[in-house]
Amino acid sequence: WLTPGAVAILAMLYRGSMVGQLQVQSTVDAKTGLLNFAAWRDVAHRALLRAERSKLPVAVLLIDLDHFKRVNDTYGHLVGDEVLAAVARTISTALRPGDLVGRLGGEEFAAILAGLNLLDAQGAAERLRAQVREVQVRSDRGEWIKVSVSVGVAEMSVSGADIRRLLDAADVALYAAKAAGRNCVRVAGPRPGEVIDLTSP
Ligand code: GH3
Ligand code: MG
Ligand code: MG
Repeated sequence: WLTPGAVAILAMLYRGSMVGQLQVQSTVDAKTGLLNFAAWRDVAHRALLRAERSKLPVAVLLIDLDHFKRVNDTYGHLVGDEVLAAVARTISTALRPGDLVGRLGGEEFAAILAGLNLLDAQGAAERLRAQVREVQVRSDRGEWIKVSVSVGVAEMSVSGADIRRLLDAADVALYAAKAAGRNCVRVAGPRPGEVIDLTSP
């Protein structure tokens, strides 16, 4: 009962929906539902350009699960994946809807916080860290698994206006958070490689 014209239209519609689906698939990380690295880098780049134009601050958080290898080694990779997804959900809900969250790879995440200066971004990172501490995932054996994250924070006017520099600065701060014992937040200062503590008097 379908005329050739109707078939052609249906085929076009179908192909259109497939293209949309493929576009979504190529920006979303399947394991966590967050933006994948390439997609995150694109939106982060645009957010930096907007912030530069409007002369507003913009901060980046680099978030890494602590001792995640132990979770895999103790409970298996599938449970590890569940923990990863739970932490990803917590990161998203801990931040504001407009904050751009991505999975950079492995057990590492990044977020762009538009309009936040270094001190406010440190506050947001601290809230996020505390909320991840509340996450509990049940293992096959019925044990409750708890994890923590370390967070490095950098801000555009302090560390530089391109995404590479911001990530490098946040990475130095993240490394300092790991060295300080993990489950904590550290902030990138104005000099290369410098890490500062904004909460100390
Ligand atoms: P640190 O506190 O120093 O970050 O220790 P860590 O164990 O988290 O870091 P390390 O880099 O030694 O190990 C990262 C682990 O993350 C090892 C790897 O198997 C695990 N991992 C990376 N991607 C995935 C994933 O998609 N699923 C699961 N289950 N594990 C992953
Ligand atoms: Mg880790
Ligand atoms: Mg890592």
